[in-house]
Amino acid sequence: MSGRRFLSIGECMVELSQAGDGLLRKGFAGDTFNTAWYARACLAADWSVDYFTALGDDAMSDEMVAFIETAGIGTSLIRRIRGKTPGLYMINLKNGERSFSYWRDNSAARSLAADPDCLREAVESADVVYFSGITLAILPQEDATTLLAEIRRAKAAGKLVVFDPNIRPRLWSSYDVMHATISEGARSSVLVMPSFDDEAAHFGDDSIDATIHRYKALGAVNIVVKNGADGVRLNFAGEETFVPAEKVKKVVDTTSAGDSFNGAFLSRYLETGDAPAAARFAAGVAARVVSEHGALVVKEKLGLSSGR
Ligand code: ADP
Repeated sequence: MSGRRFLSIGECMVELSQAGDGLLRKGFAGDTFNTAWYARACLAADWSVDYFTALGDDAMSDEMVAFIETAGIGTSLIRRIRGKTPGLYMINLKNGERSFSYWRDNSAARSLAADPDCLREAVESADVVYFSGITLAILPQEDATTLLAEIRRAKAAGKLVVFDPNIRPRLWSSYDVMHATISEGARSSVLVMPSFDDEAAHFGDDSIDATIHRYKALGAVNIVVKNGADGVRLNFAGEETFVPAEKVKKVVDTTSAGDSFNGAFLSRYLETGDAPAAARFAAGVAARVVSEHGALVVKEKLGLSSGR
């Protein structure tokens, strides 16, 4: 059981948020990176957690690599591309409402699958491979095809391949490409972890049953459907379980609720194989994450026991 590697594939961006007095605070975040962060916080030390992306050779890329390393997440597989820079987003606050501006069209991460050998080396080194609909959305179509072929190879090799559809229509060239590529992502995976809100809004599911049936029909063996404060539904090898969300006194910031749930869930599931227990644990971690500001809540505030 020792020496296993969890690999998350996607884009981590520079985050600018309001720090008061017109000042901006710099951070780093992105769906697949957030999940790696929580997996690292919750997994035992005999697991390594690595992030796979592409970055540039500028000072901001160096800073991001240093930040990822400080979080205990491996960076040795990250591709560096001369002349490129990381993507950037800003959180705007107006009358208490948050909105987001993105500068990611030319980000280095868009080339993360452009070197197939590099990608293969990373995927082959892992026991668990995690990616999302955002990972697929940012890639040129032929690179998404390359990544999906590598993902299918990983599944065929018996690795646990985990996919969060994370549907973001604005990142896709058309609805049809989005639908087809996300469906292919799910078909290529073993465990699919969608959020019901997204699936209802963009794929027209009128119930959680509909989401489960759609992903089952595509060939996913195991499905976890997250539904915010209404808990999660698990379907593992056909067996259904409902796990409620934890009560939260005051929801402060729901950024990365789903990402943290995924990371915490996987950490327990990988160690015990008990999906309902893993979901109960993850509901506790996600409840703490929505009670704090920001995407990345430090380990000390996650209420983990026994040194995790
Ligand atoms: P996403 O961020 O992907 O939309 P959800 O909103 O479904 O994901 O949230 C993921 C998990 O976070 C939920 O399953 C739940 O455990 C927790 N969570 C989210 N919102 C709340 C809330 N208001 N109260 C308690 N837990 C929450």
